Formats: sequence, C-alpha cells, structure tokens
Amino acid sequence: MKVLVTGGAGFIGSHIVDALLAEGHDVAIVDNLSTGSRRNVNPKARFYEADICSSDLGKVFELEKPQVVSHQAAQAVISRSVADPLFDARVNILGSLAIICNGLEFGVKKIVYASSGGAAYGEPKHLPVDEGHPVNPLSQYGAAKHAVEHYLHLYWLQNGLEYVALRYPNVYGPRQNPLGEAGVIAIFTGQMLRGERPTIFGKGDKTRDYAYVDDIARANVLAMKAPAVGILNLGTAAETSDRRIFDLIARVVGYGEEPNYAPVRKGEIYRICLDYSKARAALGWQPLVSLEEGLARTVAHYRVSASGSGR
Ligand code: NAD
Repeated sequence: MKVLVTGGAGFIGSHIVDALLAEGHDVAIVDNLSTGSRRNVNPKARFYEADICSSDLGKVFELEKPQVVSHQAAQAVISRSVADPLFDARVNILGSLAIICNGLEFGVKKIVYASSGGAAYGEPKHLPVDEGHPVNPLSQYGAAKHAVEHYLHLYWLQNGLEYVALRYPNVYGPRQNPLGEAGVIAIFTGQMLRGERPTIFGKGDKTRDYAYVDDIARANVLAMKAPAVGILNLGTAAETSDRRIFDLIARVVGYGEEPNYAPVRKGEIYRICLDYSKARAALGWQPLVSLEEGLARTVAHYRVSASGSGR
C-alpha cells in the first residue's frame, strides 16, 4: 500500500510508520514538527515538513497520491484546547477536513483516523465502555476529535471514501510526548529516572485503560487493510489505577519514594476502560503486550534516550 501518515514524526504516528515499513509498504510522512521530532522519523519514509492546515498539504497529496491516509497529526494537549479553542479547532477540525478534502481530490481509498475514547465518552455509565455508549466530551479537544468522526461518516455516505475511526485508550511507550493526551507514564518514568517525586492527582484510585503503542500501531495497519468501515474502540478492557501505575513503574525503575498527592484536576473523569470486542471481530485485533512488559520496554527506552543514544 502507498500510505501517507500525518503526524508521523510524533509518538504514535512514528510507530505506525515503523510497522508499515516493516511490512514492506511505501510510506510518506507529513508533520510540522510542532510536538514531533526529526529524531522519530524513520529514514526509510519520505518526509515532508508541512502543516496540515496550509496549502502545502495539497502539494504533498499531489506528489504522493496515497491510497490510504493514516491521520495522526493533532493538537493533542487537552489543557491547550480549553485555553485556546480556536487553535485547537483549526488543527483538529479544519486540518482534518483538509485531509478529507484532499483525500477526495486525489483518489484516496481509505482514511484511518486517530480518535479518542478517553476524551469522547465522558464519565462512563457502564464499564467497559462500548461504541454504543453515549458520547459526552468534557473538553474542546474531545469535542473536536468527535466532530471529525461525523465528517468522516458523512464523506463515506456521500462519496464512498472509506474510513475507520479508532478510539484510542491511554497509549504509552517509547517516544511519547509527556505533554500530550494521556502522558502520565512518560511523566512518571522521566521523573523517577531523574530522582524527582511524581504527583498523583486525587487519591490514586482513578483508573484508565493503558495500551502499549506497538499494539495500537498494529491495529492501525490492520484497519488500513481490512474491509471494515466505522468507529472501533481500542484498549484492553481492563482498568489500572494511578497508584498501580506508580507502583509498577517504581518497581521497574527501582524508585523507593512515595508520590505526592494533589487535588483532582477539573474535567478529569474518574474511571474508564474500553471494550474492544468490535475491533477484535472487525480486524482480528487484540492487545498482546502486557502492562508489565510494556512498562519494562518503556523504561528501557527512556534510560537509553536519557543517555543521549537511540531513536
Ligand atoms: P504527538 O504530539 O506525539 O503526535 C502528533 C504529531 O502531529 C506530532 O508529530 C506533531 O508535530 C504533529 N502535528 C501537530 N499539529 C500538526 C499540524 N498542524 N500539521 C502537521 N503536523 C502536526 O501525539 P500522539 O500521542 O502521538 O497522538 C497521535 C494522535 O493520537 C493524535 O491525533 C491524538 O489526538 C491521538 N490520541 C492520542 C492518545 C494517547 O494516549 N497518546 C489518546 C487518544 C488519542
């Protein structure tokens, strides 16, 4: 397949690029390096430093004529979406619409879109949350991410442009931007390795669903190849508390101190985990990397990058 990965210099996008190249696909990347890094860019992919909101995007589509677009580029900092909703909407809604319109113009067959489970569902009414659960975003970021799912559906109905919107859980692993959505593992790992004391917001009993980035990248590649169209949750269907995350990372790092505790931040949900049975049926996907294994790999990566080597 000829695939264009937006945000391919970022955390999840760079792992999708690696997974595609490992299967022998032809890959191009468009990324403005706002939170991504050249260091993440796989040298076997063609790289265009460009903003998805600029007219350069059309030139990239014209040159590349991809069959599939993996759309990962986003303004992914929730607090920024609250502080600057116009910027968030420009990147996350208008930028995504520009991807869709260029996709139509240049004959793209399918778009696989990075959506969000955590930012879409709000405080769950039942667990694990399935795709039929009501959507109730608690941030401007969540509203924008969800709006794009509607546009994708509309263009499938009107123009037959296929799409899969993957609602991600908390994704973690090497190359994660600690400021982005769900950066707690990157934050705690970095702090513990530097001997700083991490802060848990709340009592430590808030829960999230953590999936290792390789599993998420594999789901993206499967979604590009499968005939599936629509919205699919990814996740592990298991809750992990903030305190358990702290303890697991502390064990791998060898950190012996207790965390600081601070009041819960506004807009944060209490519990979530995602039912991925629809993705299992549609893509033959399930998460393969356990939390213990994924954390060991993540800590090993941060140790190497702290020493200045490694990609
Ligand atoms: P990231 O910040 O590492 O990656 C985003 C990439 O997009 C960066 O390389 C950045 O430079 C690029 N980018 C941003 N604005 C751009 C623009 N205007 N033009 C071109 N490139 C631009 O974040 P990530 O965690 O890898 O997130 C990837 C996707 O997954 C995002 O769409 C995010 O909303 C979504 N997501 C992530 C999580 C998570 O747990 N990390 C959870 C749910 C959804």
